[in-house]
Amino acid sequence: MEKKIFNFHPGPAILPHEVMLKAQAEFANFRGIGYGLMEESHRSPVFMDVIKQAETNIRELMGISDNYAVLFLQGGASLQFAMVPMNIGIPGKPMLYADTGYWASRAIKEAKLFGDVKLVYEGKKSNYSHIGDPHDWSFDPDAAYAFVCSNNTIYGSQYHFFPETGALPLVADMSSDIMSRPVDMNKFAIIFAGAQKNLGPSGVTLAIVRKDLMARCPANIPTMLKYSTHIENDSMYNTPPTFGIYIIALVTEWIKEQGGLEGMNRLNTAKSNALYNAIDNSAGYFRGTVDPGDRSKMNVTFRLPSEELEGKFCKEATAASLIGLKGHRAVGGVRASIYNAMPLEGVERLVDFMHSFQAANG
Ligand SMILES: *Cc1c(COP(=O)(O)O)cnc(C)c1O
Repeated sequence: MEKKIFNFHPGPAILPHEVMLKAQAEFANFRGIGYGLMEESHRSPVFMDVIKQAETNIRELMGISDNYAVLFLQGGASLQFAMVPMNIGIPGKPMLYADTGYWASRAIKEAKLFGDVKLVYEGKKSNYSHIGDPHDWSFDPDAAYAFVCSNNTIYGSQYHFFPETGALPLVADMSSDIMSRPVDMNKFAIIFAGAQKNLGPSGVTLAIVRKDLMARCPANIPTMLKYSTHIENDSMYNTPPTFGIYIIALVTEWIKEQGGLEGMNRLNTAKSNALYNAIDNSAGYFRGTVDPGDRSKMNVTFRLPSEELEGKFCKEATAASLIGLKGHRAVGGVRASIYNAMPLEGVERLVDFMHSFQAANG
């Protein structure tokens, strides 16, 4: 028997165990063809079926209409930070960004290379512990677009509702909460996500882009960096990341079996409630780092009474098969990443561990 590990890694992160076993079973002989899918041409009918399945599942789960293209790209979410302003920026018009954390700041830094960035929210002032009500933010309707990062992986905050930007295109980096809950797709012009947190392995980036906006893209943008190139070629302008796309097809199939995004949301709510209750009922021993109304259901961040105890906590948790709990190097503390694939049992084990740790070290 293998020892059961609960994997709280922030990314690359846990994948559904059933998906791992399925990929293993068909790795060397893919569905009876006699060799592996990773050895197959991306233009073959065999692979075309897989990419079609991935796209169909994503469209079905997220309710994506034909006005949008579903693209499988490379370069990570980080390349999207540049592709968004390159493709849908408008010369002379500001780009509006909400600075809610580490990755939002990275996106802002990149957009500044292409034009004028205006911040609609400055989370740095509250040490990124707060998002508040995006309905209070002011969006200049004459801007090129607005940008949000839906879940702040490192600080542990998440939008529980999104701003109303009217006709102004809203772009969202959903790398760490994509498909963790239902979203109203029609609110967004572009959604992108590196796959390695909720969808699959690293190396593939999902981008869902509203096709009418692509007319904005200047002619001199490099071919590979234009969304329209990938739209016109069904993500096959060059060799796509076939392994990642295959795993996304399996993971999205698994999400459908779990009751779709409603099912994921129920599970993620139960898991995050269990952890936040443990934090809030610890008489101050564990301290959440984010305002309760803005807490993330994906990345639960907290502190202990000292850095020394935090180190001990993570070390002893690892020994108890609860791995990957150390906070990001930029912020310290403890972070439990409880993406879609983390079962409730893993969170219950962590809660038990927190109780016994506090009893022994309180
Ligand atoms: C992990 C993460 C990124 C970075 O993704 P890469 O694929 O490594 O570029 C960007 N945004 C968010 C919200 C993330 O969680």
